Amino acid sequence: MNKHLEDLIKLSNIDRTIDAFEPKIAEAKSRLDEVEEAQSAVEKEILALSEEIKESELKKAKNELHIQELSDKLEANKKKAADAKTEKEIKALQLEEEIAREQLDFANEEIERLENLIESRKKEIETKEAELAAMKEKSAAVKEEVEKELAEIEKERQKLFEEKQKLMAQMSQKILAFYDKIRRWAKNTAVVPVRKQACMGCFMKINDKTYAEVIKGEEITTCPHCGRILYLEVQKEEESAEA
Ligand SMILES: [Zn+2]
Repeated sequence: MNKHLEDLIKLSNIDRTIDAFEPKIAEAKSRLDEVEEAQSAVEKEILALSEEIKESELKKAKNELHIQELSDKLEANKKKAADAKTEKEIKALQLEEEIAREQLDFANEEIERLENLIESRKKEIETKEAELAAMKEKSAAVKEEVEKELAEIEKERQKLFEEKQKLMAQMSQKILAFYDKIRRWAKNTAVVPVRKQACMGCFMKINDKTYAEVIKGEEITTCPHCGRILYLEVQKEEESAEA
């Protein structure tokens, strides 16, 4: 086989392998993002629950203050009632007392409601905290796993880059430029095998003359339909012949 063609096949295999790392890297990173996102979602929920508790405590304090005021008022009313002279005065004080007692009841109910709310939110936080702790443990494990995977990929990738540099150094600039030009649009299918007399880039059947050239492999042949570089995959041809 033509030496340039042989190099091109090798080069395109290396490029394809290097590019195949990208989705693996993305997949590993997205796995890490996923657990981190889930974790921060729970953290936000806990924060919202804590805020709700804080607000409820504030409301509770306001109601307690109100109760104090109402009690003072009732106390003052009692003294006023003792000094009341007219029926009208007594009635007015009674009405005031009634209203104050109603408000007192309402404030007490409100405090009870707020206390229950605070209690249940605290329990929810407890559950979420436990969930978060488990998540943190999991995310630490995933992080370690992903980092290890990425380091391994990087190592392999580096090795391939070196291999590629070495190969390119011994190839002609003209051939490399030719390859790059096709690769610009054909990406990882710039160099493709011919199977059953069809280009495995565009899957069109190639004419007998081109096919004969590909079989000979004495020069670099391109697909007449798409322009990709063609080569005969000996192993695969035999396999398909057997099948
Ligand atoms: Zn083609």
